[in-house]
Amino acid sequence: MDRQPDPRVAAQGKLDDLAEMMTRHGWAVSRQYPGAAEARVEGERRGGAAVMATARLTDKGWKIRYYVIGSEEDGWTRWAGLKKRSTFLEFIRSSAVDADTRLQPLHSHCRCAKKHQATRWRALRRLAGIQLHRISADDLKMEKRVYRCPHDARRWHLTSKQEHPHRRDTWQGKTVSL
Ligand SMILES: [Zn+2]
Repeated sequence: MDRQPDPRVAAQGKLDDLAEMMTRHGWAVSRQYPGAAEARVEGERRGGAAVMATARLTDKGWKIRYYVIGSEEDGWTRWAGLKKRSTFLEFIRSSAVDADTRLQPLHSHCRCAKKHQATRWRALRRLAGIQLHRISADDLKMEKRVYRCPHDARRWHLTSKQEHPHRRDTWQGKTVSL
């Protein structure tokens, strides 16, 4: 009986060139494998811009999706989906899209009833702001860390709870300064 190739390895191959290109253009890159048939590569920049490509194994093979968000300074507050790989590659290069590029609005499965930030960098900056503001309050309920929403990879929440010792943070790349 033939052994099935590990789908994660196949996904990694699909996303490797994107990760390499992100690194070349100065993005801090993280790769994750949330499930056996899922892979994700994302890059972030100081200023709140981020890029993400996800791969999901379907009946028709690997389906790759592209998501981008520009910097806070450029007025971006939410992620957008991009149809074309070429537009995504251009965003990796320039952190911008042409005015005539159609941005796909995204549906979120997050039902956390908590405030959310679109990227880890934005969430960490928010956390730093809160901690600075309350430095003398000695508040046990103060937010201590950020975590990725378990229902939406493009949302980050703040929490006062310590991290579960057996659960690793979902970001596995280097960190961009705030
Ligand atoms: Zn959520």
